[in-house]
Parts: sequence; C-alpha cells; structure tokens
Amino acid sequence: MEEYDIAVVGGGPAGIMAAIAASRNSSSVILLEKNSKLGRKLLMTGGGRCNITNLKPIKKLLNSYSQKNFLKHSFYIFTNEDLFSLFQDKGLGFIQEDDNRIFPETEKSLDILNVLTEYLDDVVISYNFEVESIRQGFIINDKIKADKVIIATGGITYPQTGCSIKNYSLTSQPLTDIKYGLVPLLTKKDLSDIAGATLYDVVISYKKSKVKGNVLFSHVGLTGPGIINLSNLISESITYNLLDDNPDFEFEIAIDLCPELSRDQLNDKFNRDFQDKGKTMLKNYLKLFLTNRFVDFFLDELDLDGEIQLSRINKKSKNRLIENLKRFPFEINGFNSDLSKVTIGGVDLSNVNAKTMESTLISDLYFAGEVLDVHGPTGGYNLKIAFSTGYLAGLSASAK
Ligand SMILES: Cc1cc2nc3c(=O)[nH]c(=O)nc-3n(C[C@H](O)[C@H](O)[C@H](O)COP(=O)(O)OP(=O)(O)OC[C@H]3O[C@@H](n4cnc5c(N)ncnc54)[C@H](O)[C@@H]3O)c2cc1C
Repeated sequence: MEEYDIAVVGGGPAGIMAAIAASRNSSSVILLEKNSKLGRKLLMTGGGRCNITNLKPIKKLLNSYSQKNFLKHSFYIFTNEDLFSLFQDKGLGFIQEDDNRIFPETEKSLDILNVLTEYLDDVVISYNFEVESIRQGFIINDKIKADKVIIATGGITYPQTGCSIKNYSLTSQPLTDIKYGLVPLLTKKDLSDIAGATLYDVVISYKKSKVKGNVLFSHVGLTGPGIINLSNLISESITYNLLDDNPDFEFEIAIDLCPELSRDQLNDKFNRDFQDKGKTMLKNYLKLFLTNRFVDFFLDELDLDGEIQLSRINKKSKNRLIENLKRFPFEINGFNSDLSKVTIGGVDLSNVNAKTMESTLISDLYFAGEVLDVHGPTGGYNLKIAFSTGYLAGLSASAK
C-alpha cells in the first residue's frame, strides 16, 4: 500500500490549492482526481475566461457571504494579493472588469490551470482515481494510506465535470440541505418572442428579498446576473434537500422595471406627459422606460394598444401601467437545474474549525471548497472560496 502524509481528494481549484500549500511545507502529498485531467469545472468558469476573484476590499467582500464568519480566517490567511502573486510570479497578470471582477489578462481559464499545475511538481497526481471509500486510518479505496485527508470534491452541479451527489457520503459529516445555487429560473410563460432581450439595472424581488441587476430573457425563462443572484436567496428560503428528493417549485417573482422613480413620481410624470405629449403613441412613450424589444411584450401582457395616443389613456389604464412598471410579475415553475453554477449546502460548518478547515468530529480530516456549506454570489466569489479555504486546509494539514 502506498503511504503519504496527506491525500487530497478532488483536483478542482480547492484541491489543487490545498495540494500546493501542503507540498510547500515539504509534506508528501498525493492528489486524487476522478477525471483524466485536473480542473474541468475551472476551465468552464467565467465563460472560459475565469472570473478568478472579486477585488472588493476584504471586509466588504466578506459581507457578500452569509457564511462570512466561517470564511474570515481563510480570506485573511490567503488574500487576493497572495493569489495574484502566485500567478504573477509565473508571468500571468490580471485585468479588472465592472463590479470588481478579476480575470487573467489572457482571458483564458486554461492559463490559470496551467500556472496552478506548474506548482504541483512535488505532488504525486493520480488521475482517473475515483475515491469510493475512506476507511478509518485513513485507507483510501484499500490502496492508499494517508495520515491526513483533505476532501475537496466540490458540489453537485455540472456532473460532467466530476461532481456527484454521492461524494457527500465520503465526508462522514453531518450535512446541511443540498440545493441549487446561482441558477436560471424557468417561466410558465413561453418567452421565445423576447429571447435574447435584456433589462438593465432593474430590481427583482421574491417575497422580501430584492436584488438589483440585469435580467436576460432566454427561450425557457429568465437569467442574467440579477436573476442568478436572486436565485441564491430564493433557493435558501425554500425548504428542500436534493439528497432526499427533487421537488417541483412554483413561485412568483416581480421586476421593478423603473426603480429610479417611485409610484408617486411616475404618476406625476404620467399626468404631466399625458397632457404635454398627448399625441405621442404609448408604444413610443414607453421607450423612455423600457428597452425597445421589451415594449411590445409589455403591452401584450397588459393587453394594451400601443398605438393609442397618450391623451386618450384613461385613469384605469394609467394605473395599470404604473403598477406593472413597478411590479411586473413572472410565474416561475422551476430552477433550470442543468445550469446551476454552485451548490448551496454541504458539510455543516458547525463541525469544521474555521481556523484550520479540520473536522471537529474526526481528527486529521479536512475540507475545502464547495463541498462545504459555503457559497457566494456571481462575480468571482466562489473561486475565492475555493482558493482561500483550499490554501488554509493544505497549510493546516501540513503544519500539524
Ligand atoms: C459554468 C460555471 C461557471 C462558473 N464560473 C465561475 C466564475 O467565473 N467565478 C467563480 O468564482 N466561480 C465560478 N463558478 C463556480 C466555481 O467553478 C466553483 O465554485 C469551483 O469550481 C469550486 O471548486 P472546488 O474545487 O470546490 O470544486 P470543483 O471545481 O467541482 O472540483 C472538484 C473536483 O473533485 C473531483 N472529484 C469529485 N469527486 C471525486 C472522487 N470521488 N474522487 C476523486 N475526485 C473527485 C472532480 O472531478 C473535480 O475535479 C462557475 C461554475 C460553473 C459550473
């Protein structure tokens, strides 16, 4: 049986970073990866461009996560500056885009993976090795013995990248409910007519949760950063667990198409404009508030004639226009789960030491990345978790 100080299970960003940190401390490290290559999901990130992290100042960054207290130590131990210098030392720089999103200057995730792999010279990598059992001791698949194990098997989304719901049994830990995160929404209504259209900087709400951002219409429903971020809040607030079942979802969301004006302000504006611009056709007037492609859809939904002149609109129609500009509803009948980008839920954080990533139930067993009950919004926040928790797990396991 081969023996190692540390076995890392899973060669995604969290596992790779854990292996790098552990091997730097001259431990003998083996990285076990189910696929024939490392980082399959990493290659898909940011549409192949890899939005590697988010450059918000660290305190603001932490406030973007509901598990900020757990993540705090790992974020301070392995900062964005530490992450950048790892790549800059090998000649790869970064560019910044809106909302503090950071990408490699080459805009290729493959370059991120290649640099990370360069740091694995001292690590034994076993490809096509699917870990199926970790017995006490730790004996892996009855083939490998390790003093310490770091589990970095990721979540459940995009199973073609190597993720699988069955991996949670390897953790031997209590789990929180496993749910879809960062996921497009399916609408009851067929949106083919406006597929490809975008609403910019609208406010989307589900019950009391609100998110400002863009909404993109697809053939089957709604997506875009605003919807994707709201989906985390929706999924968190619904009780379900994919370990037990795959339930049907039905709920309503609403879009404030005109967030910069209150109902009263809109009412005043309409009263003025309906007099001053009385001859303007409604469909043209609405272009002040809505994108061209959305105007027809909006009028169809309200069953209003776009050719009507503003001066001829009655009070009831005016009120319906205002109500729908401020609260345009969509019936949702599910998550587009095939496109869910992260898993909500995982290893219960109350049994993991945030200062080391070690289990408080099983000594010498560590966790990193998405397998933990940690997730963030879209914009580099999830790779940030993978790299920081991975680094801390590798460092602690090798220092113990
Ligand atoms: C399409 C898409 C785009 C994304 N874009 C971004 C982005 O731009 N920015 C961002 O911050 N986040 C992004 N994310 C989220 C981000 O990719 C994940 O949060 C991150 O990859 C999690 O890293 P991980 O190492 O924990 O898990 P993973 O990347 O899932 O890696 C887990 C690894 O473990 C291996 N494995 C699993 N089970 C076993 C086993 N039993 N034995 C051996 N090996 C096993 C898998 O094959 C895999 O290689 C995106 C996700 C998707 C799906």
